[in-house]
Amino acid sequence: MQSESAAPITAFIGIGSNLDSPKDRVKGAAGLLAEIPSTRVERVSSLYQSAPFGVTNQPDFVNAVACLSTSLEVRVLFRKLQKIEAAQGRVRTKRWGPRVLDLDLLVYGAAVVSDPDLTVPHPGIADRNFVLLPLQEIAPDLEIPGLGRVADLAADSKEPRIARLE
Ligand code: ADP
Ligand code: MG
Repeated sequence: MQSESAAPITAFIGIGSNLDSPKDRVKGAAGLLAEIPSTRVERVSSLYQSAPFGVTNQPDFVNAVACLSTSLEVRVLFRKLQKIEAAQGRVRTKRWGPRVLDLDLLVYGAAVVSDPDLTVPHPGIADRNFVLLPLQEIAPDLEIPGLGRVADLAADSKEPRIARLE
């Protein structure tokens, strides 16, 4: 399989953590993304804090979005993200602990992927304000394939607002 595309592609990564110093985890993720080969971190949003829904007896989440320029093919980039997640998810207990870093491949240029393990654009974008708000901060005019412009999606979103941290 070809691992590099001809021209660099702009990709957006959703970063999230709610365990083990989440703020530091999210900030540190930008440095880890910068280590991916053939890839540059162009921008990182502010940090946002959101209350968990569903399972509420867990700490708040810290989220951010990073914009990358990458020459890696979409599935290769995804595997790099999974490797970083796995490396960060290890805690020093007897068994593998909960994952402390969530890296979602939100958008990869104009690509639409529906593999069993990879859906791009990420299916949760439109109804997750903790993704839309940081995305709007760094790329308000981004057109998400099949969904529309980020600023319009954020304006339409019904989720309660979340707090911008720093
Ligand atoms: P969330 O959807 O809230 O990020 P998880 O991180 O637990 O939930 O989901 C992980 C699963 O989502 C992985 O098994 C992965 O294969 C799948 N997945 C599908 N598309 C994507 C994508 N674009 N980015 C990240 N994970 C994805
Ligand atoms: Mg995920």
